[in-house]
Amino acid sequence: MKNDTVLNIEVEQIKASKIDQVDFDNLDFGKVFTDYMFVCDYSEGEWKKPEIVPYQPITIDPSAKVFHYGQAVFEGMKAYKDDNDDVWLFRPDENFRRINLSSQRLAIPEFPEEFFFEGLKTLLQLEKNWIQKGFGNSLYLRPFVIATEPGVSASPSSDYKFMIICSPAKAYYSGEVRVKIAEKFSRAADGGVGFAKAAGNYAAQFYPTSLANAQGYQQIIWTDASSHEYLEEAGTMNVFFRIGDKLLTSPNNDRILDGVTRKSVIALAEDAGIDVEVRRVSVKEVIEAAENDNLKEIFGSGTAAVINPISGFAFQDKKFELPKLEDSYAGYFKKTLMDIQYNNSEDKFGWRY
Ligand code: PMP
Repeated sequence: MKNDTVLNIEVEQIKASKIDQVDFDNLDFGKVFTDYMFVCDYSEGEWKKPEIVPYQPITIDPSAKVFHYGQAVFEGMKAYKDDNDDVWLFRPDENFRRINLSSQRLAIPEFPEEFFFEGLKTLLQLEKNWIQKGFGNSLYLRPFVIATEPGVSASPSSDYKFMIICSPAKAYYSGEVRVKIAEKFSRAADGGVGFAKAAGNYAAQFYPTSLANAQGYQQIIWTDASSHEYLEEAGTMNVFFRIGDKLLTSPNNDRILDGVTRKSVIALAEDAGIDVEVRRVSVKEVIEAAENDNLKEIFGSGTAAVINPISGFAFQDKKFELPKLEDSYAGYFKKTLMDIQYNNSEDKFGWRY
């Protein structure tokens, strides 16, 4: 990574690193955090000077708006280390663009681009040792913004805190994933905040997902809120269907998160000559394809798992299992994306940073 520092972010040094206490072979996702965190406060109409400080609890007034009105957005991204110890991000400009899109929808002031990138670069230079080499290992980065103004009046906060925290992660093995198609609950609606990475979207998914979990399904495939006839997202991933050799995924809309992995899969598929249709995908056509043995694959896409193959699904009282393919699209996209992320292959799209 180039070090063309323009901001010179002030760093408050740690006394001693915690890294020796970490068992990198047995990491639970998102439980262990690194030595430092990036913090930038907003007040009086401007983002103040960002800084990097030792990872520690923060103090916030109990009346702060984030606690009462959920004025909060976040991002999820990863840093990868190649065999030469160089550190890479994957399309971070997309995460930057998206956090500001989310912020705009939640009436949060946009964050300056140079603060975001300079913050990431300085943090990653400090935390380099926390990124383990090896396919699947990464440092999960969680930028987020919360409304910190004290006071419970239901109006946008005047004060905010933007932070980035970092957590070392292993390859994500979900085991077999079976999903249930949503018939009653929705994660998002037209005109709503589904396209944003708003904290509350995730809280609202927990209850319906826990009901699906109790029935033996790991995730829900969310359908459109008005008719429940069209398939939109799988849990917290975008979702793809392979019918015959055709790859189908829903277009982005108010209800769907514009996933970085999703748009990368579409680009790779087009590049590989796979017939991709970005259009509404109905429950009916997927069930018909499954009944005719024409439904070859369903997979989710997202930063955490890259590609997550789905082994079966249920709709009402019907249950379907998907075939286990040797030459799956899911396997191809996962390998191709990871090769780019880990600097194992040419980056012809210019996605590595
Ligand atoms: N949909 C939702 C609701 C998500 O939370 C995520 C994870 N950010 C995704 C899709 C996948 O997005 P990305 O590929 O950018 O990680």
